[in-house]
Amino acid sequence: MRKEKGLLLVLSGPAGVGKGTVCSALREQETDIQYSVSATTRAPRDGEVNGINYFFKSREEFKEMIAQDRLLEWAEYVGNFYGTPIDYVQETLNNGKDIILEIEVQGALKVKERFPEGVFIFLMPPSLAELRNRIVGRGTETVDVINERMNVAKEEIDMMKNYDYVVENDQVELAVERIKSIVIAEHCKRERL
Ligand code: 5GP
Repeated sequence: MRKEKGLLLVLSGPAGVGKGTVCSALREQETDIQYSVSATTRAPRDGEVNGINYFFKSREEFKEMIAQDRLLEWAEYVGNFYGTPIDYVQETLNNGKDIILEIEVQGALKVKERFPEGVFIFLMPPSLAELRNRIVGRGTETVDVINERMNVAKEEIDMMKNYDYVVENDQVELAVERIKSIVIAEHCKRERL
């Protein structure tokens, strides 16, 4: 049988949705999925370990990584740089293993340009899901309320269309199960290609 290339999984979504929590919970389950460790210029938080949570870099070091084309993508987020080292991603995929990137939305879109065959998962906050259901389904709220909420949600909903899957993060364990199902489904899909 031909050796299958691994899946490039991208877990992204709006700020505060719980991407990190879901990714850590997935990691604890010891699936065969590998995790990409990002580089960042932000300072380590209590308990964070260099090389495990992030590769902590100075701005100069980070710029050097950009100049040497060592990042698959990078983005500036709240005054700090974040980026995905490309070597580990490439190596993992070539070894037939799946890898997951937990990154913000701008970065995810850049990955999509370079790896359109990736699996893009948008993690959605349940409040936005409720809002969306209401807007799409009922439309009984006052116009002012709907408009105000829609304005906030619009950009995020807009981003969602660039993704292959939308996973609601109503409960971390459920979100993890949904992601695992997506991985299984994607492997089944690719086996017949
Ligand atoms: P935090 O500082 O809370 O760890 O992360 C801030 C944001 O940066 C989160 O939304 C996280 O998903 C995102 N992030 C982490 N690593 C990367 C990366 O390599 N690239 C991009 N584009 N975003 C990242």
